[in-house]
Amino acid sequence: MQLWLKPALAQAIVEHAKRDIPNECCGVIIGVGIEGQEVVAIPNIASQQDQHYRMDDQSLSEIFFRAQRENREIIGFYHSHPNGDPIPSQTDIHLAAYPNTAYVIVGLQGSEAQLAAWSIKSHEVKRVEMVVSTAKPPPEDATRSLIQKRAIIAAVIIAMAFMLILSLSLYHQRLLFLCLNL
Ligand SMILES: [Zn+2]
Repeated sequence: MQLWLKPALAQAIVEHAKRDIPNECCGVIIGVGIEGQEVVAIPNIASQQDQHYRMDDQSLSEIFFRAQRENREIIGFYHSHPNGDPIPSQTDIHLAAYPNTAYVIVGLQGSEAQLAAWSIKSHEVKRVEMVVSTAKPPPEDATRSLIQKRAIIAAVIIAMAFMLILSLSLYHQRLLFLCLNL
């Protein structure tokens, strides 16, 4: 899994995180496939905002439906750790509800803000490669359909080989049967 962000978008996430110090900030990344196209800040409505984040439900659902109308989707969530590393906390892992969406975390410990992206699926955390570049990502669907085509071709070849072996063995059995009956 990859997440592609234009430098301006990555910068917008970091600036939001710095603006909300000492609290955690949160927001979403809207895009298509693995390409982030827009970053939208969402109010953090957690009771202890310097410890946790909770996205405002109404803002989140509005963004969700807007993205749908625009034939795009929410491809990532982001939030910050004002005093920590960009690594999912136990709470982040526990509350992660979207396995196919990247979780971007800004770590503000130290002099430089650090960004990292993760996928969290049934409490299993994996690093998502984040590409910050002005380039466009390679067309993912084309790659995927090529892999699918190859898989179909391979399945057909295996099926044909199986049929050939089966018919040959039946043929031999029949020959054997005929020989024995002579
Ligand atoms: Zn967190």
